[in-house]
Amino acid sequence: MNAPTDPKLLTNPLLDTWTSPHCLPPFTDVKAEHFAPAFAVALKSHRDELDAIAANPAAATFENTLAAFDKSGRLHMRIDQLFYNLAASETSPALQAVEREMAAPLAAHTNVIYMHAGLFSRVDALFSQRDALGLTSEQMRLLERVHLDFVRAGAKLSAGAQARYGKIMEQLAELTTQFSQNVLADEATTHLLLKDESDLAGLPESVRASAKQAAVERGLDGYVITISRSLIVPFLTFSDNRALRERAYKAWTGRGEGINAGTEKFNNAPIIASIMALRLEQANLHGYASYTDYALTDTMAGKHAAVFDLLMKVWVPAKEKAALECEALQAMALSRDEKIEIAPWDWRYYAEKVRQARYDLDDALVKPYFSLDRMVEAAFDCAQRLFGLRFVYQPELKAYHPDVKIYEVQNADGSLLGVFLHDNFSRSTKRGGAWMSSYRQQSRIDGDVKPIIVNNNNFAKGAEGKPTLLSFDDARTLFHEFGHGLHGLLSSVNYERLSGTSVLRDFVELPSQLFEHWLSEPEVLKQHARHVDTGEPIPDALMARLKEARKFNQGFETVEYTSSALVDLALHSQTAMATLDIAQFEKQELAKIGMPPQILMRHRLPHFGHLFSGSSYASQYYVYLWAEVLDADGFEAFVEAGNAFDSATAQRLRKFIYSSGNTMEPTEAYRAFRGRAPTVTPMLKKKGLLPA
Ligand SMILES: [Zn+2]
Repeated sequence: MNAPTDPKLLTNPLLDTWTSPHCLPPFTDVKAEHFAPAFAVALKSHRDELDAIAANPAAATFENTLAAFDKSGRLHMRIDQLFYNLAASETSPALQAVEREMAAPLAAHTNVIYMHAGLFSRVDALFSQRDALGLTSEQMRLLERVHLDFVRAGAKLSAGAQARYGKIMEQLAELTTQFSQNVLADEATTHLLLKDESDLAGLPESVRASAKQAAVERGLDGYVITISRSLIVPFLTFSDNRALRERAYKAWTGRGEGINAGTEKFNNAPIIASIMALRLEQANLHGYASYTDYALTDTMAGKHAAVFDLLMKVWVPAKEKAALECEALQAMALSRDEKIEIAPWDWRYYAEKVRQARYDLDDALVKPYFSLDRMVEAAFDCAQRLFGLRFVYQPELKAYHPDVKIYEVQNADGSLLGVFLHDNFSRSTKRGGAWMSSYRQQSRIDGDVKPIIVNNNNFAKGAEGKPTLLSFDDARTLFHEFGHGLHGLLSSVNYERLSGTSVLRDFVELPSQLFEHWLSEPEVLKQHARHVDTGEPIPDALMARLKEARKFNQGFETVEYTSSALVDLALHSQTAMATLDIAQFEKQELAKIGMPPQILMRHRLPHFGHLFSGSSYASQYYVYLWAEVLDADGFEAFVEAGNAFDSATAQRLRKFIYSSGNTMEPTEAYRAFRGRAPTVTPMLKKKGLLPA
């Protein structure tokens, strides 16, 4: 890389050598204004590297082309990862402005890479003689993946089509950025302010404390219910005030529609319509009739029919189960002399009453056993028992926010595996949901690069001086993201393109969903689910009820999820997009599949970030269910071994699932771990949709 000549850049920490321990990003020095000039330098240096590979007078070899390509762009990559992580976890108006400004140039850069004719001709030449090159299986996999990346990004299109394709990608990048920012703005500006005691009726102490905390953060008196999932769901579960529940529910499920701000400002409908038209054009340019056909080609499922079949295998019994659940809610309301028809904003409320009656699981009873600190210890302990890992807290290392904890992750022999950042609390500068991401991916082609992995959650922070208590679902989310984290940390591959979670989309949820199983293991709960005040382990009876309750409300949850996946699939399967009215489309599709009127999609289209904050889950929201087939079947391997930490099974799991990245065909990797192909039955039983 050439040294920057602009004096402003001489002090840009993004371009300096990162000298902090483990070469962590310069979290405390970096400012929003550093990004655009640093990107300019990094993109230029990346282009120069690519030009040099293409201009090499020697004939293309694996080393001078594929390996060199994998090593290129590292400066760009580290800035890119820092930028998008900060934009998601600790954003600011200045950073959002850079995000909008950079969306098109960064998308254009992707096109520069994948439409680089000189580069592609070398990759293509190697691909056409791949069997004669004497490659290792990992090298072969890299060649095939990189070649496919080029083809899917438009490398084989005519020059005219490539130019149009580039424009489409840039426009999509801008639109998806705008989509996310609208939802974020809606969530940040919409809340319910509770003042009177009657507004608080039914809310347990923990919800009141979180609502108080949210009010303090906003400089308001009283209690604030934000429309972030961690606060709104408990509110809908416990609030006795039906009118308030309705208001809160409509604000929450209406985000991205422009109704909360009372203006069209945050309305995502026109943005979605534009995104869909561009995606169809993208698919057509590749010769596919629909975006679904294009997207599914590079998945385990492969075809629309395979996805639709799986979804329908679940949809029909899920609706039947939900209908039974609804009857129980209606009966509960009647027994309380409340003469109402169950509406969507009533479901969680009466479900909680039924759950308490059936399982006696009061949140106030359960949550003290699931403090955040103990659940983090539990996740670390499971990683140690399965894979021999140790997580060592490094209080002297500072991240981008004081709440973020940094850990060194060590192998059983004390050697360094990687670095782990844990960012657990909700705040207004962080987007909603829970996710894993990386600041650096593991690889060995350019030195022994250790991964830096982050887990983000959105738990409501306990009040000042009080521990943060989780619901059992929150604890499951913690384990889920930690499973993704392990997938990134345990990666053991040579090439960055094949590293960690860079696997096929319908395989990527396997390591995360599988890891959730250990949270429910009695020996894990006995050891770690201890009362926050007394340290007493969770009582057996409570543990048994928690286990029984796992199948409770699964009809509702499965209907919420599966309807979202079916609408996603239908939306992206369209072969004409001229007159797309999002609201109308959603309504029609739900009518077509017979959506129960008491349940809404888990994510309605106007805020369906999986589909419109980027393209990687578009037409692929089904992947969680696909992975659930694998995780339910996969955990059975430990059940069959008679030990949840069976070491031979854990070793196979590490080798073929958590460490192998994208070096193997996923079907093959699964078979190598399990000894056979997966079956659907364990997933249906786990959900209680088939008798156990
Ligand atoms: Zn996940």
